[in-house]
Amino acid sequence: MKSRLVASLGLALVLLFGISAHAQAADKVKAVASFSILGDMVRQVGGDRVDVTTLVGPDGDAHVYEPTPADAKNLAASAILFTNGLGFEGWMDRLEKSSGFTGKVVVASTGVKPRTMVEEEGAKEETITDPHAWQSLANGKLYVANIRDGLIAVDPAGKAVYEANAAKYLDEIAKEEEAVKAALAKLPEARKKIITSHDAFGYFGAAYELEIIAPEGVSTESEASAQDVAKIIRQIKAENIPAVFMENITDYRLLDQIASETGAKIGGELYTDALSPADGPAPTYLDMFRHNIETLTAALSA
Ligand SMILES: [Zn+2]
Repeated sequence: MKSRLVASLGLALVLLFGISAHAQAADKVKAVASFSILGDMVRQVGGDRVDVTTLVGPDGDAHVYEPTPADAKNLAASAILFTNGLGFEGWMDRLEKSSGFTGKVVVASTGVKPRTMVEEEGAKEETITDPHAWQSLANGKLYVANIRDGLIAVDPAGKAVYEANAAKYLDEIAKEEEAVKAALAKLPEARKKIITSHDAFGYFGAAYELEIIAPEGVSTESEASAQDVAKIIRQIKAENIPAVFMENITDYRLLDQIASETGAKIGGELYTDALSPADGPAPTYLDMFRHNIETLTAALSA
């Protein structure tokens, strides 16, 4: 009699907690991604099993982000953290430590061949790693594989789902890669040069044969000096560079000035380090490529 009572009490508790846990989606893997582009990729691979939040949201600039106490709380309650790495999130170490996060960290760019460049910082020269690896779809495939493996490590029961989602997504990325190459191959050689405000298209330019000139370097942290701007204006005139492009994460004024002083046209807005909000033109990683390619080819076609 007593054991039956305990058993049914136990069953009632299981039902009660089971229902409330379900209502809170506690059965999902709680994941944090550092910025919106990576957040979308984690969503594509994680599907229904994963609850993803991003620290730097749409149109946000991750180079200069300042984490909030709410970010630390959110991270502490998560099982897995996805970062870009390559020095993109300079604020992440401090956030991880202050939050007491004990979950798994996945550096999505693991395996990417990093681009480095020498930047002049006043009188001294510094070798800088370019963090914008996601702007090459070949690298995007490495990101997806790392995300898949990370999710399997924290949620082995979802292995088949993550593998299937990743395989489908990798296929879509491969198709977009072909489309990007085909679209850019049609442009006249002399017009394959663009200006953006910060140097976010290094991997893109290397992968798809486009020359990129940027007054601000690979981070938005430091502003272009008057000499940098003067040098670029001379270069645009000498090389007949056809168009300058705005970015969704940076100030328009510098490029407005460059365009008006050189006669280069303003080619539109490119998405570099962040997606658009859901109702904008680039709400996913692949939409970002579609939008950027449309914008580039419209401005650079002869
Ligand atoms: Zn950037």
